[in-house]
Amino acid sequence: MSGFVSLVGAGPGDPELLTVLGRRRLLEADVIVYDRLVNPSLFMMSSADKVDVGKMPNHHKFSQYKINELLVELATQGKRVVRLKAGDPYVFGRGGEEAQYLCAHHIDYEVVPGITSAIAGLAAAGIPITHRDMASSFHIITGHRKANGRQLDWANVAQQEGTLVFLMGMKQLPVIVDELVKNGRPADSAVAIIQWATRWQQRTVTGNLSNIVEIANQAQIGAPALIVVGEVVKLRDELNVRLPLSGKHILIPYKVNSKLSELLKDQGASVDYFERSTKQPLPFDIPDLDKPETLVIEDAEAFKVFLDVLLAHNIDSRRLNKWRLLVTNTVAQSRIRQLGIITDGLIVRNQLPKADAIIVIGEANQLAREKFAENETQIVTYKRVPVTHEIDLNDFHGVVFPSSLAVQDLFAGISDEAKKQLVTLPCLAMGRHVLKQCQQNGMQKVQLTSAEPEEIIAKLKGVLDDESNSVIDR
Ligand code: SAH
Repeated sequence: MSGFVSLVGAGPGDPELLTVLGRRRLLEADVIVYDRLVNPSLFMMSSADKVDVGKMPNHHKFSQYKINELLVELATQGKRVVRLKAGDPYVFGRGGEEAQYLCAHHIDYEVVPGITSAIAGLAAAGIPITHRDMASSFHIITGHRKANGRQLDWANVAQQEGTLVFLMGMKQLPVIVDELVKNGRPADSAVAIIQWATRWQQRTVTGNLSNIVEIANQAQIGAPALIVVGEVVKLRDELNVRLPLSGKHILIPYKVNSKLSELLKDQGASVDYFERSTKQPLPFDIPDLDKPETLVIEDAEAFKVFLDVLLAHNIDSRRLNKWRLLVTNTVAQSRIRQLGIITDGLIVRNQLPKADAIIVIGEANQLAREKFAENETQIVTYKRVPVTHEIDLNDFHGVVFPSSLAVQDLFAGISDEAKKQLVTLPCLAMGRHVLKQCQQNGMQKVQLTSAEPEEIIAKLKGVLDDESNSVIDR
């Protein structure tokens, strides 16, 4: 069977600026071959194998030939391959060459367009690429000097009325500026440089052809960046949108997108997740359901697994009508209510009723940690297995923990080195239990919050503003 290669445009960097088809292809993929500029947050949700061809362990880049060969090899093995490229696959970045190579090797392929940084990157900094009064065309130009030495037609480029956008131009910035002026572009023409457009690191500097080199040097702005020359740059003062959490990178312990992350993104934040622990169901004996019992539920998840196993035996929750259901916390109480079952009351874990025999249901590690009453039988329905992460916590400004389990999961999944970074990050804990868990794990800057969106945003803004000593000009 022959595989298939999708050349997918990842967009400029913000993971939400991916096409619907691109997202589907990522979910269907067996393997994703991606570049250095592609934001890894884009494919966190995909279980495909991932190959970073932007760098190798010994820091040598994959040659273009090797990338081409790899695509052919993977497709020949029958795999669905996503070749994920920054922006649009056919705007520089050698997408055309990859397609030609696939074509020559009779590999089926498609192109899934992406939003190019050359247009959207300007918009993200408040610069429309065209404007009726200022630019009736735009020109996207590579600033990279080609190996074959072919030079740009500078006289032609400099004389264009429209907006000039140079990609891959930062190393050549002095040459670009020089050539444009030499060829007749006025020295006071407005210029903007936008680095890491649409990502939390986005930074912009503006000036004109005579001073931009110095301004860029001073601001230490480098690749990847877009160099924009034209009147439209002046619109930035009026059109740049700043949101309360713009430029902030927040870690939220959810595997999938959540309401909370959408809320933060709408306030301008970039949000990343880490994978929570996975649930491994464990075998257990179904107790005699006709005998009246007291069931103490520690953890709603454990009870859910219990119900799933009953269902698999064709038994539904009505068969529990002789049982008294007690919970040890209100979170479990409300989750179980969502399953359509109203529990009979709350109970303190170490004050279990002495007289009757009781059954305690929970997760393996949690039950093993606790002390038990003599009259207690345990049903362990599942075990949480921590997922390990390689996240660079230096890249984050703050963390929001929605549950104590989220705190436990994150600490269980990272290295000791990462823990040292983590404990110094400002964080919000949603509820007192979570706050306690954060403190027990050594988090130094914890703030309590409710689950109210307004409160979360206000508090997050507060803790992050206290922290930041540099103002980033987006
Ligand atoms: N196919 C890509 C461009 C690939 S060439 C696209 O359509 O956007 C790589 C160059 O693109 C970089 O050197 C830089 O000039 C530009 N670039 C890509 N993403 C960028 C971003 N988020 N911010 C600024 N420049 C970016």
